Amino acid sequence: MSPAKFLHELVGSMSQGAAGNPTVAMIEAAFAHHGVHWRYVNMEVTPDDLGVAVRGAKAMGFRGFNCSLPHKVTVIPHLDGLGESAAVIGAVNCVVRRGDQFIGENTDGKGFLKSLETEIDPKGKSVLLFGAGGASRAIAVELGLAGSRLITIVNRSEKRGAELVTLLRDKLKVDAELVVWQGDYTVPTGTDIVINGTSIGLYDAVARLDLALDSLKPGMVVADVIFNPFRTRFLDDSAARGCRAIDGLGMLVNQGIVGVEYWTGITPNADVMRKALEAAMGL
Ligand code: NDP
Repeated sequence: MSPAKFLHELVGSMSQGAAGNPTVAMIEAAFAHHGVHWRYVNMEVTPDDLGVAVRGAKAMGFRGFNCSLPHKVTVIPHLDGLGESAAVIGAVNCVVRRGDQFIGENTDGKGFLKSLETEIDPKGKSVLLFGAGGASRAIAVELGLAGSRLITIVNRSEKRGAELVTLLRDKLKVDAELVVWQGDYTVPTGTDIVINGTSIGLYDAVARLDLALDSLKPGMVVADVIFNPFRTRFLDDSAARGCRAIDGLGMLVNQGIVGVEYWTGITPNADVMRKALEAAMGL
């Protein structure tokens, strides 16, 4: 009996409660633009079914898949190995078939860095990062791997902040420090890059970061992970102070670009993907 054959190569997104995931339109636009016969399909997977879903994807010849919350950590035992940053971060959002193995990668931080590098090379720079959750962890690890000189984590919860600082110091030998966030934070003189890695501003264009705005100086590079709205109050306030602002939509597009590169070997057209994402999000 001949093995089952697909008309298309398949990749997917394993998520829960993410029907209408706008990244589907973005990835499929890239496939269409480059004329490759691939499909990207969204699959609702419950935590209980994750293991069987991963085995099923492998058995059916999927070339990989993205996974989002709540699967980013729990998917790891079901995989054959991890890429360098995914191993340090301890979370996976992109799985890639290499030979007969499913390898977990983390493209969140890589996507962020691709965006950041349009304005500044983080090597040797002093970085201030608000937040210590999943997105911040991915960003901080990539900054560490890229050779940032100092990473200061400013986080509301001391426990989560301390865990991230310990990870940066112990696993990457990066100079990192923690500030527990209380009241308006003053950005130290000499900071090169300021990042909002928290969820403050998500679906809320007027949400404010507790930050002394006059400590933001012209020339600093300021970036936000928030992609909806993609123009946040933090970015507007920073741009008004002469900072160079980078939005979170670029990070989302770039993590998609890294995923397509991993799966297909093609470097996709960023404009096509951003336009498709904006259309799917109604922007
Ligand atoms: P987590 O829940 O893991 O972390 C949330 C972080 O925000 C924590 O550091 C938390 O602090 C902090 N935080 C939340 N509310 C407040 C508040 N009111 N005051 C101070 N700190 C606060 O979320 P993720 O890291 O996974 O995601 C963060 C954001 O990044 C989300 O909005 C998500 O949409 C976005 N994101 C964007 C991506 C992109 O491609 N642009 C990719 C991935 C995520 P504490 O530890 O004290 O609770």
